[in-house]
Amino acid sequence: MKKSWIIRLSALGVVLGIGPGVGGATSAAPPQRVIIISWDGAADWVVDRLLLEGRLPNVARLAKEGVRAEYCQPAFPSKTAPGHAALWTGVYSDVNGVSGNLVPLLPRAEHTLLEQRSGFDAVSLRAEPLYVTAARAGKNVAALSATHSSPATRWFQDLPGGVPPGRYRSFSGFDSSIADDRVWDGGNLQPAQGWPVLPDHRGEAREMVLRVADATFYGLAYDDPADPKEGFDTLLLRQGSKDGARARAECTLKPAEAEESVRRFSPRFRISRGAVVGYTYFRLFSLEPGGWMVLYQRAAHGLQAAASTEETRAYLDAYGGFHAAPFDAYTAGKLGPPLAEGGDGTAERRLLECIRLDCEFLKRGTRFALQQWSPDLLHHYVPWTDAAGHTWMGVLDPDSSRYDAALAGKLWPFYAQVFALQDEWLGDIRAAAGPQAVLCLVSDHGMEGVGKRFTPNAVLEQAGLLARTPAGGLDLARTKICAPPWADYFLTVNGTEWKDGVVPSAEREAVLRAATQALLAAVDPETGQKIVKRVLRPSDEPGLGMGGPAGGDLYLDLAPGYTPSARAGGPVVEPVAARIGAGVHGFLPLRPKMHSIFYLAGEGVAAGQRLPGMRQIDVAPTLARLLGVPAPKDARGRVLEAALMNGGR
Ligand SMILES: [Zn+2]
Repeated sequence: MKKSWIIRLSALGVVLGIGPGVGGATSAAPPQRVIIISWDGAADWVVDRLLLEGRLPNVARLAKEGVRAEYCQPAFPSKTAPGHAALWTGVYSDVNGVSGNLVPLLPRAEHTLLEQRSGFDAVSLRAEPLYVTAARAGKNVAALSATHSSPATRWFQDLPGGVPPGRYRSFSGFDSSIADDRVWDGGNLQPAQGWPVLPDHRGEAREMVLRVADATFYGLAYDDPADPKEGFDTLLLRQGSKDGARARAECTLKPAEAEESVRRFSPRFRISRGAVVGYTYFRLFSLEPGGWMVLYQRAAHGLQAAASTEETRAYLDAYGGFHAAPFDAYTAGKLGPPLAEGGDGTAERRLLECIRLDCEFLKRGTRFALQQWSPDLLHHYVPWTDAAGHTWMGVLDPDSSRYDAALAGKLWPFYAQVFALQDEWLGDIRAAAGPQAVLCLVSDHGMEGVGKRFTPNAVLEQAGLLARTPAGGLDLARTKICAPPWADYFLTVNGTEWKDGVVPSAEREAVLRAATQALLAAVDPETGQKIVKRVLRPSDEPGLGMGGPAGGDLYLDLAPGYTPSARAGGPVVEPVAARIGAGVHGFLPLRPKMHSIFYLAGEGVAAGQRLPGMRQIDVAPTLARLLGVPAPKDARGRVLEAALMNGGR
């Protein structure tokens, strides 16, 4: 296990925070178990379409038995870290501080606007999340994958002994990578040497060495006499030694095309990087007679945990491995040619099988946590709908400039299948937890297709408002306003309130006006069309969470088809790297394609209700009511009374 993140539980008791029933906002009804599942990048418009197509039976059941919101309005920028921060805290980034997937270092007086850190870190969140409120109120909490939960000391630093023993557990693998996803093609096969005993084989056997973090695997490709196939048809993998008696583990793989099961994956191999321990898996999709192969090796992560070492190990053993799927390898053609490059769907089916394995792991881990710890509140998350959206939405979105009806017709079933696998997991959770448990399905933001990249800093440079150093970075001494490296959807004045800032407050208004004018005048050289529809100040649309110490001064509402970039300079407009365009989110949350989802069912929830549009900040107060705890203390969202039976009281 890694670093000092593992929090050893104190044997001493702790002083409890607010007890259940204290704080006024709680219900008289018996509190419910609440499970909240987040599907990253599950756009409301996509989920609506998939429901109409009948592809999401478990979401449909939630809607039928419980509550479905017309849509959920996300945070701005509509990105993963701000969306989840709003969901968990009940307040947007002007208060919770998570203004992007990266955030500035604060206070401004002590840092330049070039300094940043991850927006997913617990330290970046300045408002209390529901999982902490619940634990402090005496609830038993399992945050199996929740943004801002790590390091947990951030939340319980005032409790003697730190994390409340036995009633708060959180896990994250995001910052403890052991090995990345990799696809081996057999190009490094050599004549076999130094194997004490070779398995029965015909002709020449060839070997390859696979280094995976601190582990070494020896692969042996050979022609099995018992297998009628001519040439190489079998791959033996041994961990640590070519000698079967000394190897730490081994498996024999036969090539097999992707299928709708995970039985073809290898057993797990325990590997490490330094002190971080996790599991990897292999999957041999093809092995040609001459030795070329598609051998997928699954990424491995350790878990940073607020749980005992024993609990963390038991959970990882039951779970099997943290989120992993080879989207990068797929895009690079390493699973075979993608459909967009003339493939026949083989590469997509292989990718889907890897996602299927991940969803199997999610089922196992969630079931284990429910049985083992019986949590009152369980958080979990899955990233694949987002990854698939980024990869394919450029051609799938009918409004995208790269929309391709023929290709979209072939890709949509695969995109739908990603959702369907996550839906299967949802059904498994419902089956494991029972229909009384409150199950809430949310997403952090929507998704839309674009074909072009827009660089606002290039416009500001042309307008004389921004200057670059000879190395190409922002020159703070000569930059009045910019999209800082941690933000692409808004601009920040380099005011004297920042360290090394240059714009005094008396000149601020003039800078804002000049920047607004320049941006509104920017045109796409290819089409002559305006790129920026509106430039908003936080006061123009109150309630979206614009502004605040971590926020900006001017927010961009872009014309469809453009994704903004925080680069310091370069062309004003250029095509996105992928030929098929890209799926993007971050846009103004009033834009329907950015809308996220909200489904809720279980005891205490009204049946068959359809709510109008609601906001991400309404989720935490509503779930807190069902859980029988006060709303998170900084929350400004409201309880969705219409979603609750008898108002949840
Ligand atoms: Zn995303």
